[in-house]
Amino acid sequence: MACDPYSLALPGIQGLAPYEPGKPIETLAREYGLAPDSIVKLASNENPRGPSPKALEAAQQAVASCHRYPDGNGTELRETLAARHSVEPDAITLGNGSNDVLDLVARTFLAPGRNAVFSRHAFAVYPIVTAIAGAEARVAEPLPSDDPGAPYGHDVDAMAALVDADTRVVFVANPNNPTGTWVDGDALARLLARVPDHAIVVVDEAYAECVEASDFPQAMQWLPDHPSLVVTRSFSKIFGLAGLRCGCAVSSRAIADLLNRVRHPFNVNTAALAAAEAALADEAFMAESVAINSAGLAQLESGFRALGLTPIPSVANFVSVDVGRPGQAVFESLLPRGVIVRPVGGYELPNHLRVTVGTAQENERVLEAMAEVLSA
Ligand SMILES: *Cc1c(COP(=O)(O)O)cnc(C)c1O
Repeated sequence: MACDPYSLALPGIQGLAPYEPGKPIETLAREYGLAPDSIVKLASNENPRGPSPKALEAAQQAVASCHRYPDGNGTELRETLAARHSVEPDAITLGNGSNDVLDLVARTFLAPGRNAVFSRHAFAVYPIVTAIAGAEARVAEPLPSDDPGAPYGHDVDAMAALVDADTRVVFVANPNNPTGTWVDGDALARLLARVPDHAIVVVDEAYAECVEASDFPQAMQWLPDHPSLVVTRSFSKIFGLAGLRCGCAVSSRAIADLLNRVRHPFNVNTAALAAAEAALADEAFMAESVAINSAGLAQLESGFRALGLTPIPSVANFVSVDVGRPGQAVFESLLPRGVIVRPVGGYELPNHLRVTVGTAQENERVLEAMAEVLSA
C-alpha cells in the first residue's frame, strides 16, 4: 500500500496554508534580468535604512565567536530589555523573531479542544500557529471598512464575545498588519477587562516603536494588573534586524517560565543577541528612523489619494491601499518595473496592496510605477 504522508499528518497541518513571504529581490532580479540594486522592495515592512551602524558592528564582532554556542539564556539582552520595560529579566522570553514567541504561546497553551480568538485581517501567523497546535480558530468580524477610526481594524467587543470556556489565547496585533490600524487605550482596557483569566491575551506590538500618536497604548502598562497578558516585540521592523531574527515576549514570570520550558535552547543566535542589544542603545538612530517613517507614511498616503485610491490610515511602517481591482494583478504588473509590494488577498483583502514605507525616493518610485500601471 502506498504511503500518503498527507493523511498521516496532524489534522490541523493537513489543511494549513503556509505563510507567504515577500518576494526576494534576488528572485525578481533573476526572473526579469534586472540589476538587484535597481529593484525597490517595499514588501516586508523592513526598515529601508537598514539597522543602526552600531548594531551591524556588534553583529559582525559577534560572528567572530560563532564556533561557541550563543548564551542560551540571552542574559545580557534580557537584562537590557527588562530595564527598558521596567520588569525583571525573568519576565522576558526571547524568540527567533517574535513569530517564534507567538508559536511558543500556541504550543504552550493551545491544543485540540481549545480555541484561539483573533480578528479577520489580522496577522497571518495567528491562524498558522493555532492550526499547528490543533486548536480551533475563532475569527471575529472586523470594524466596517468605513469605520472613521480604524477601517478593517480589530473590533475588540466582537473579539471578547467569541471568548468561551475553551479559549486559551486571544491575539491582538497593535498596530495590526496588514491594515496598519490600531486599538486605543479604552478599547484595549475593555478587552482586558472582558477576557477571563483562563485566556492569555497576546498583544503583538511588532510595530509599536513606529507609532507617534501620543495616545497609543503601550500594553505593558497593564502587566501588573493582568497576569494573563503577554506583550510581544520585534527587532525586525523599525530596528532593521529582520534577517537576524530576534523578538521577545514580556509577561508575568509564570508565563515566561512556561514559555522558556518550551523554547528551543539557543533559539536566538550570537549575532542577533549582540545586534539587538546595540540597536536598543542607539536611540538617536531609532528616533531618526521613526521620523523618516512618519514622513514616508504621509508621502504614501497623499500619493495614493492623488491617484484616486483609498489607503487605510496607518500608524505602522506600511500602508495598505485599495487599488479598486485585484491587487494580485497590480502586484504582477509592478514586478517588471522593478517594484515589489505585497498583495494581501491571503488576508481577505483582495483589492488591496500593502506597501512598506521606504526612503522618500523609493516611495516616489512606487507611486510613479503605480500611476503607470493603473492608467495602462
Ligand atoms: C512582522 C510581524 C511580526 C514578526 O516578526 P518577526 O520578524 O518574527 O519578529 C509579528 N507580528 C506582526 C503583526 C508582524 O507584522
